[in-house]
Amino acid sequence: MHTRRVRKGALRGLNMTSVIEQHMVAGVHYTGTFPDGEVFDSSEGRDALYFLVGHRQMIPGFEEEIMGAAVGEKREFTLTPDRAYGEHDEGAIQVVPRDQFPPEMPLEVGVSMAAQTDKGPLPFTITAVDEENVTVDFNHQMAGKTLRFSVEVVEVRDATPEELAHGHVHGPGGHHH
Ligand code: ZN
Repeated sequence: MHTRRVRKGALRGLNMTSVIEQHMVAGVHYTGTFPDGEVFDSSEGRDALYFLVGHRQMIPGFEEEIMGAAVGEKREFTLTPDRAYGEHDEGAIQVVPRDQFPPEMPLEVGVSMAAQTDKGPLPFTITAVDEENVTVDFNHQMAGKTLRFSVEVVEVRDATPEELAHGHVHGPGGHHH
C-alpha cells in the first residue's frame, strides 16, 4: 500500500461542483410514472423544469430525493402519497346544492374548476351530479397515488436575492417579469 500523491498544482483548475441544496435553483428533466408504468407527466421534448429548492414549488419527496445531486446526475425514486400529493381525504369531498353554482357553469362529472377563496383559488373536480346536488372533490387529482420519478439534473446554480425574495425562479425556465 502506498499513498498516491497529488501533484502540486493539480487541483488548481478544479471547479467546485454545485450540488442541489436548499435555496438553490435546480433545472431537471423528468418523467413521472404510476407504478403500472403509465406516464403521467414528462419534460421530454420540452424545456427542463426549473425550480427554487425549498420554496414549496415541488412536492416535498421530490426535493428530498434529489438533494445533493450534481449536474448530469440521474436519479430514480418512488414516492408514496405521504411524500407526494398527500393521502386522499374523504373530508375534502363535499355535496353542494346546485344553486350554489353560477348558472353558466357546466355541472358535469369530471369538470375541474377553482373556487375563489380568500386564500386564493382552490381547485376541485366534480365527481357526481344529480338533480339537486353536485359532489365536488377538493383533493388534488394526484392525492392517494404513489408516483415514480426518473430525474436528470441539467443545471444547478445559486439563486439571486430577487429570486429568493419572490420564492420562484426568474429567467430561462422561470418567471419573466
Ligand atoms: Zn419573481
